[in-house]
Formats: sequence, C-alpha cells, structure tokens
Amino acid sequence: MTEPTASPSYVVIGNPIAHSKSPQIHALFAAQFAGNPALAGFCYDRLLAPVDGFAASVAQFAASGGRGANVTVPFKEDAFRLANLLTARAQAAGAVNTLQLQADDSWLGDNTDGAGLVADVLRHVEIRGRRILLLGAGGAARGVILPLLAQQPASLTLANRTLSRASQLVEHFQANTTILLQACEYGAIAGQFDLIINATSASLGGERLPISNSVFAPGALAYDMMYGKDETPFLAQAREAGVVLRVDGLGMLVGQAAEAFHLWTELRPDVEPVLVWMREQL
Ligand code: NDP
Repeated sequence: MTEPTASPSYVVIGNPIAHSKSPQIHALFAAQFAGNPALAGFCYDRLLAPVDGFAASVAQFAASGGRGANVTVPFKEDAFRLANLLTARAQAAGAVNTLQLQADDSWLGDNTDGAGLVADVLRHVEIRGRRILLLGAGGAARGVILPLLAQQPASLTLANRTLSRASQLVEHFQANTTILLQACEYGAIAGQFDLIINATSASLGGERLPISNSVFAPGALAYDMMYGKDETPFLAQAREAGVVLRVDGLGMLVGQAAEAFHLWTELRPDVEPVLVWMREQL
C-alpha cells in the first residue's frame, strides 16, 4: 500500500478523528492484495473536518483527487444529505458511513454498518429463523434493521428506554416486511430470544440495562456493538445470566470497513487476521 500522501484517495472523515483505527484496518486489507491493479494508487488517511464544515471538506477532498470516504461521528447524517444517490440500506438507515465518487463526480452514499454486524454475527450463529431482540433505537439500531431482516429472522423485537423511538422504527420497517416486528420498553420484554443485540450507548457510561435474565434463550448469542479491552457491562450481564456465546462489536467495526473496501475496490478482504490484530491493539 502507498504511504499516506498530501492527497489520499480514501479517508475517514470525522471530528475528532485522531483515534480512528480505520487507516490501519484498510492498510491491512490492502496488504492482502499487494500488487493487485485494482489497488493502484490506493492510499487511506484521516481527515478532520470542522463540525460545521463537512460538505466543504468533502468538496476539497474530491478536488484533490479523493475517490471515497468513510464517515464517522458526527457526520453520518450530513453525509446522508450530501449524497446524490443512496443505496437501499443507506436510505433505510437514514445515515451514510461510506461515500464513493461516481464517474459524473456525484457521490454515492452507502451504509455498511448493518452488513458489518450481520457478517460478524454469522461467523458465530445463523440468523435465519431466530428470534432477535434489538436493544436501543438510535442511529446504530436503525442502521442494522434492514440487513437483519434480509436474513429472514423469525421475529424482531425492539426495546428502548424511550418507547416512542422504538415504535417509530417498527412502524417504519413493518410496512415493507412480513416478519413480525414489535416495540416495547425494557421492563415489558416478553419471551425469550436467540440473538440479543445491544445497540444502546449504555455500556459507554458503564451502565447495565434493566432487562431480565430470562430474555436469553438457551444457546443464545449476546452481541454488544460496543467493544473495548475489558468486558462490556452488557456482556458481563449476559455472562451472569448464563450466556456462553458473547461477542463484542470489534468484528462489526472491521466488517463494516471490509464492506466499504469491497464497494471501492470490488475486492473482499479476509477480516479474521485483521480482527486478531485489532484485538491485540485494544
Ligand atoms: P444514539 O445516540 O443514536 O442512540 C443511543 C441509544 O442508546 C438510544 O436508544 C438511547 O435510548 C440508548 N441509551 C443511551 N443511554 C442509555 C442508558 N443509560 N440506558 C438505556 N439506554 C440508553 O447512538 P448510536 O445508535 O449511534 O450508538 C449506539 C452504540 O453503538 C454506541 O455504543 C456506539 O459506540 C455503538 N456502535 C458501534 C459500531 C461498531 O462498529 N461496533 C458502529 C456504530 C455504533 P433513548 O432513545 O431512550 O435515549
């Protein structure tokens, strides 16, 4: 891979951005295809944009030869508005985390977060026919609903602290699926689930969710979108409830990057060695 230059062809745009691991992830992907002509000139760096200057930063990036970008906090909605064309999953997510410059200089907006989550879950368990409990109704939850439904689960229950946000998502997505969708508050979750996904930011504040241990069916997978060096509060909660299969969101992070890399290069990197490397860096 080419070392970052003054004019990288791909960037991750955010504010702040110094902490982003995306350049390392994409460098490792690119190294898997050394010498491949599809990667001629591939170069990936960080781009700090002013909080009120996303569109101007993207325009400047394109003018300097930029071809694609990952978009992170706080710009995913800005990128959604900026994109001239949206993939179905970006449209459903209401947010864009990947931009690709088109031949006519317009931007295609995609959202690869949900595909990253699904790919990571599928490394551990099937989703088809399973009962899913999605905890949270913010941007991350919304972004994974369409890709999860595409796997044909038996049902999808959305639980959120603020019930109205979960209800709005159910209303929005139920219109286009026959899969049973339900919304509830944490205290009103009924039944057991095979796949329980934490898409809240409660773990960031070290908080546990007020859900019963009985929501975890025997053999269930507990998945926390958050990740870190230490066990997350949600995964600790699942362990104490007797859940054996517990996975954090590092694989989702690498998976969404792999989807973006594929969009840009049409190459499918092996996420496994990159995930191992990332785990060592935590
Ligand atoms: P949002 O701010 O859009 O949504 C936050 C959600 O968390 C809401 O549902 C909110 O509930 C809920 N919440 C916040 N605090 C609490 C609490 N103390 N108790 C219960 N519920 C709470 O955030 P995002 O959706 O963007 O992100 C959510 C998480 O997903 C973050 O931890 C983020 O790091 C992670 N993430 C991981 C990715 C990965 O690649 N691994 C990719 C994207 C996100 P309410 O509606 O009631 O306020």
